[in-house]
Amino acid sequence: MMAASDRSALRGTLRHNEPMARHTSWRVGGPAHCFYEPADLDDLATFLQQLPADESLVWLGLGSNLLVRDGGIPGTVIATAGALMDLTKVDGHTVRAGAGVACNKVARFCAGLNLVSGEFLAGIPGTLGGALAMNAGAFGGETWPLVKRVETLDRHGVRRWRVPADFHIAYRQVQGPEGEWFVAAELQLQAGDGAAGLARVKELLERRNRTQPIGLPSCGSVFRNPPGDHAARLIEACGLKGECRGGACVSSKHANFIINDGKATAADIEGLIIHIADTVERMQGVRLQPEVHIVGEKSFESRVSSSELEEGKGHE
Ligand SMILES: Cc1cc2nc3c(=O)[nH]c(=O)nc-3n(C[C@H](O)[C@H](O)[C@H](O)COP(=O)(O)OP(=O)(O)OC[C@H]3O[C@@H](n4cnc5c(N)ncnc54)[C@H](O)[C@@H]3O)c2cc1C
Repeated sequence: MMAASDRSALRGTLRHNEPMARHTSWRVGGPAHCFYEPADLDDLATFLQQLPADESLVWLGLGSNLLVRDGGIPGTVIATAGALMDLTKVDGHTVRAGAGVACNKVARFCAGLNLVSGEFLAGIPGTLGGALAMNAGAFGGETWPLVKRVETLDRHGVRRWRVPADFHIAYRQVQGPEGEWFVAAELQLQAGDGAAGLARVKELLERRNRTQPIGLPSCGSVFRNPPGDHAARLIEACGLKGECRGGACVSSKHANFIINDGKATAADIEGLIIHIADTVERMQGVRLQPEVHIVGEKSFESRVSSSELEEGKGHE
């Protein structure tokens, strides 16, 4: 990918064949051909400038909404968590946070400044960059209504400020200028009582613990809620709680969560996702759309077994 002499200018860590199971909350995923942990934003810009123009990129936060297939990622993964970590007050109601900062940290930092309305972020186990990419939300709050502007980086290392009007933003969906990724955001909050904000954080986390299988390997809700309904209700109504494919099982606590029992492969999880979507469509007439992003290549074994399945279908 890049000449040895070019690498000397870099201050981050470049690894080859890095197992992605180490970097996803589902604890599955084959190796990334290249995995780069930048030292900081300037270093990341230098790294991107030196990449071949056709190198495919996957940006990674905390991997809490990412299913990486067992065959791994043939291109380069950019790991923002641990880098892009600036978190400062800009002015009265505005906070700047780097894309690698954990949402929980952003929520607590804001409350500490007596700034409220970002409390919902505390329960989202990802980075701010991931929350911007997903328009993450919970308990009535969403990421983008807080955004004043975002800073992006393209693969030539060029940084730009963008405003929300530059993006198409919907429920758990964000589309913006092609070939730009988030490196920071300025969030606009409201003046309020920080202690009450922290109490709300605690209450929301307790509510999560009561209703969700927190602590087990998952990616949170697998499917988006369809308009006017809840994916979990539809899945439960089909009797799918506890349904398993290999080591991947529908949680018995929250039907929109798939849990890795410790032995699941990405193929097990993807197979269960397809089975759930097919069953709900057949029994309830609604095609659920995954919220989780699926990347990478199938393993040789699952490519063979899915082509066998295809052949089997042909003989029916
Ligand atoms: C137990 C649990 C509970 C959860 N609860 C919620 C919830 O209540 N609400 C909710 O919305 N989500 C929830 N999630 C899902 C997940 O935490 C969010 O979607 C989160 O925003 C993902 O952030 P991340 O840093 O982990 O992103 P990743 O999973 O690393 O990446 C997700 C996507 O964002 C892209 N991306 C990451 N960083 C950047 C960047 N800097 N620039 C551009 N693209 C980027 C990735 O390429 C990928 O496509 C939950 C997950 C778990 C495991």
